[in-house]
Amino acid sequence: MRKLQLLILLTFVTSEIIAQQENYTVKKLKITILSTMLSDWGIGEWGFSALVEADSVRILFDAGSRERTVLENSKELGIDLSSVPTLVLSHNHQDHTGGWLPLRNAVKAKNPSALSLTHAGRGLFDTRISSRGEENSYRKKDSLLYTEAGGHVKVHDNFIEIHPGVFLTGPVPRPYPEKNYTIGGNIRKKKDAMGNIVDDIVPEDMSLVVRTENGLVLLAGCGHSGLINTISHIQNNLQQQPVIAAIGGFHLLENTDEQIKWTAEHLKKVGLSYFMGAHCTGIEPVYQIRELLDLKRGESIVGSVGATFELEKGFTAGPLSK
Ligand SMILES: [Zn+2]
Ligand SMILES: [Zn+2]
Repeated sequence: MRKLQLLILLTFVTSEIIAQQENYTVKKLKITILSTMLSDWGIGEWGFSALVEADSVRILFDAGSRERTVLENSKELGIDLSSVPTLVLSHNHQDHTGGWLPLRNAVKAKNPSALSLTHAGRGLFDTRISSRGEENSYRKKDSLLYTEAGGHVKVHDNFIEIHPGVFLTGPVPRPYPEKNYTIGGNIRKKKDAMGNIVDDIVPEDMSLVVRTENGLVLLAGCGHSGLINTISHIQNNLQQQPVIAAIGGFHLLENTDEQIKWTAEHLKKVGLSYFMGAHCTGIEPVYQIRELLDLKRGESIVGSVGATFELEKGFTAGPLSK
């Protein structure tokens, strides 16, 4: 009888622990920008990368464009990437993936497991068609070299928790008519699974989300799925919790004032109180969103290399962008 009582108690306790873990909230969060156009420290470039430190977990999100940007900027900021095991690539574009292999090669001599696991959305390694009509399989070739040298690539189809309280959206459904993926008005092309040439809507585009006690924090690379599509997908997967901060590239640079207004209305509804528009967000949209959301100076800023977001402090940025 005692044994049975003990078993029931143990089952109860174990399921309690699992239930707690299921709703785990990250207590300590710091996001540091390592590549974007504006720089208060280090090198600015057309690209994106950020380091996520969530409790004891460290993840590099995107790898910048040029081979050495993220490496040099990390050094300048006193960040040691050889102790970061995991990397997330938001999508295939060169300005987010150019540093992928060079970074892994630079850190693996010091620590073989550094940047040895890469997460990607389904479609990232698809063949693309260049503006001259030539086939581009750069990322596929990179992934072969990466795995040959001991790296592992995980390709995602769905929303997933990769560490307690840290999620990847996987490819994002797009119910809203956001088309934040055109370059100079020309949609790029890609080959589909059947080998047909189709418009490249960057189907693999995925973002990272951190669940904190204050709400959800979103980190995006280029936002090609659309900021509101992404937020809606996140909330559908995480019990409609408020999204308190959006950080990264959101590709609003080609949006009209009307589209920005529409975006801001949605951001208001989800409880957004911090906005850092880096990379392809565009500078004007950051200030429009600040005004439309009634945010203060310092709560909606243009992202710059070295700028950080922390749960207790909000944004800390250099003199150019604070
Ligand atoms: Zn980009
Ligand atoms: Zn892009």
